[in-house]
Amino acid sequence: MAGERQADCLFCKIVAGEVPATVVRETATTVAFRDINPQAPTHVLVIPRVHYPDAASLAAAEPQIAADILREAAEVAAEDKVDGSGYRIVFNTGAGAGQTVFHTHAHVLGGRGLQWPPG
Ligand code: AMP
Ligand code: ZN
Repeated sequence: MAGERQADCLFCKIVAGEVPATVVRETATTVAFRDINPQAPTHVLVIPRVHYPDAASLAAAEPQIAADILREAAEVAAEDKVDGSGYRIVFNTGAGAGQTVFHTHAHVLGGRGLQWPPG
């Protein structure tokens, strides 16, 4: 069934508590934790508890949870006090765009100057 846990998925294991993570926020539908290889002073990943490979497939199947991720990204930015200076929400989609973990995740980046266009 769509959204079911995948045995070989790192982020499903973080949701289940089987792989440790520095969790900063949790809701009934989402988990937010610090990226293990931070690219900015604030670098948090917001993920759904359910497994979909990317943002598009999550939004198509469970649009309310996609909205939950965006709301949680804003809460993370506010808690880390980067909302005033500006922050970025990134969904890398596809290996060609740098996606390495195929469980939907929003990167929340802030706390430093962010260039545009991104690399
Ligand atoms: P992406 O390249 O967009 O798929 O993003 C995957 C992100 O997951 C990268 O920024 C990694 O640094 C991060 N990451 C990988 N393993 C872990 C982990 N165990 N805990 C936290 N972040 C991780
Ligand atoms: Zn997963």
